[in-house]
Amino acid sequence: MSKTELLYLNDSYLKETSATVVDVTDEGVVFDRTVFYPGGGGQIHDTGYIVYGGVEYRVPKVFKAGGEVYHVVEGIKLSPGDNVTLRIDWERRYKIMKMHTSLHIIGAIMYFDYNVLITGSSIYEDYARIDFPMKGMNKELAVSIVAKADSIAKEGHDVKTYFMPTSEALKNKDLFRVADVSKYAKYLGETVRIVEIVGVDTELDGGTHVKNTSEIGEIKFLKYESKGSKNRRIYITV
Ligand SMILES: [Zn+2]
Repeated sequence: MSKTELLYLNDSYLKETSATVVDVTDEGVVFDRTVFYPGGGGQIHDTGYIVYGGVEYRVPKVFKAGGEVYHVVEGIKLSPGDNVTLRIDWERRYKIMKMHTSLHIIGAIMYFDYNVLITGSSIYEDYARIDFPMKGMNKELAVSIVAKADSIAKEGHDVKTYFMPTSEALKNKDLFRVADVSKYAKYLGETVRIVEIVGVDTELDGGTHVKNTSEIGEIKFLKYESKGSKNRRIYITV
């Protein structure tokens, strides 16, 4: 069990929080709670600052290791018990949230229209990409799928996050929108987090999302790539 309360799981819109240092290692600083997303599930980690004694110190990286969340803090040596403010780079994170929700819409189109499961996805600062095995895919089709995702986004669907017992979630294979569920099912805890884009998509997810798809603005097609004999990749931005 992590020492850190992961505030972004219940409120992706939290930009800052007060926090107390609970551990300091060569790798980074562990706080009792955090608004920083440490990366995972394809979504890049947050960046930002900690504020201590009225001074801002850069946090260029946050990561998870051994179940703990480590914040790399530049320019200061903190000690357990220190009280700080954690503040994320909100514009960067908000764009990442928009792109992550966009990928779920595209994933839903792939799943429900083409019966294809995702084999990988990554959300970076400026763009996101999604992979799936689909031999019949081509650039024209990729462009039309992104256009369909864009029009779905503009319909303004609410996005909800909630927790569910893992045993219950495992009964519904529609919730697992990636290939090889059996491979990672054993790593799931007692509850799993669900992200539901109402009327569009419901799946397991630990990332940060917008509250309504209308916030996305426009989902823009960037690039299409054929990776090997089977895998196809679509790049988007917002
Ligand atoms: Zn996701």
